[in-house]
Amino acid sequence: MSCFAGLVSSPSPTGVSDRGKGRGRVYENITETVGNTPCVKISDAICPKGRTIYAKLEYFNPLSSVKDRLACAIIEDAERTGKLKPGDTVVEATSGNTGIAVAMLCAQRGYKCVITMAEPFSIERRKLMRFLGAKVIITPKAGKGSGMVAKAKELAEKHGWFLCRQFENEANAKFHYDTTGQEILNDFEGMKLDYYVLGYGTGGTFSGAGKALKEKRPDIKICLGEPADAPLVASGQKSERNPDGSATGSHPAFKPHPIQGWTPDFIPLITEAGIASTGYDEFVPIPGDAAIQMSQQLAKTQGIFTGISGGASMYAAVEMAKKAPEGSVLVAMLADTGERYLSTPLFASISADMNEEEVEISKSTPSFQL
Ligand code: PMP
Repeated sequence: MSCFAGLVSSPSPTGVSDRGKGRGRVYENITETVGNTPCVKISDAICPKGRTIYAKLEYFNPLSSVKDRLACAIIEDAERTGKLKPGDTVVEATSGNTGIAVAMLCAQRGYKCVITMAEPFSIERRKLMRFLGAKVIITPKAGKGSGMVAKAKELAEKHGWFLCRQFENEANAKFHYDTTGQEILNDFEGMKLDYYVLGYGTGGTFSGAGKALKEKRPDIKICLGEPADAPLVASGQKSERNPDGSATGSHPAFKPHPIQGWTPDFIPLITEAGIASTGYDEFVPIPGDAAIQMSQQLAKTQGIFTGISGGASMYAAVEMAKKAPEGSVLVAMLADTGERYLSTPLFASISADMNEEEVEISKSTPSFQL
């Protein structure tokens, strides 16, 4: 049973009859629909003149984020290597998207699922995991990302549960090498492609897809983004590690930032391995408010509904495009859907507008009744 159904990507649509080509098929189960996400061109309302930017829309995955790939990667690898058996319990520490994806895989395959999650992350994510049958354990805000990781490890050791270890598990990057990277290579076959733009959460996408792209098209430049508030990679200082590769605690350069899903309070082992092997060619620090504004702009000018990290990635792509030679083509990773951020600053202005609208209604239609 494989999550990745191995569809052959089609060239860019030429007309109405090509719409959604490759997606309408019959599948054995939901996990087979993971991957083969589309790349969509960004209009000149956002893209600098004379350059072309495509957004790879990971919200086309069944649970609406890039992390569906990671869950497939880790669960299938554990099944193959005998680490997971029917009826087992899976545990993982996650800021949300991984938990939702792992919960989906567990629900579909009959495993029990326990997720540890640090307090500041959005309520929608927590609810979704519970809806998918997972048990969610909230860890204190003060312990940050490394606190929730320590809790998951403690539970796994105590109960003999399978721990995903998304930040260290090599299956994560390998899956991105096999799917995300190959998809881009297929989709851009015979086309110009100069830059691949993304940030890192675990670094699975950066390390895996980056490696696949560099192997086949060595001229492609990898452009890595990082929150300006949390310049971990930018500091040049590595995270200290336990013998199993996990970080011992918070990186000194970490500060809380609004780009959920990017840059935990440590440099993940997979990210470090990617930097050491494939590396990156360009680096863009991204202010949190710029990421939020770009995500709002993507919705209003393109109809592309992505989360804060999607805005961050597009912001980095636009900054890169401004400096890139005329004619350059860029692909930016948009990791998830904006729907996961309804209670976050991404929707702050909308929430304020709605309060005003309600006041307007109550003023103009005093007898209004439902
Ligand atoms: N954006 C969001 C919203 C995410 O949840 C993640 C994964 N944590 C990423 C980006 C980065 O993906 P990766 O783990 O492959 O680096």
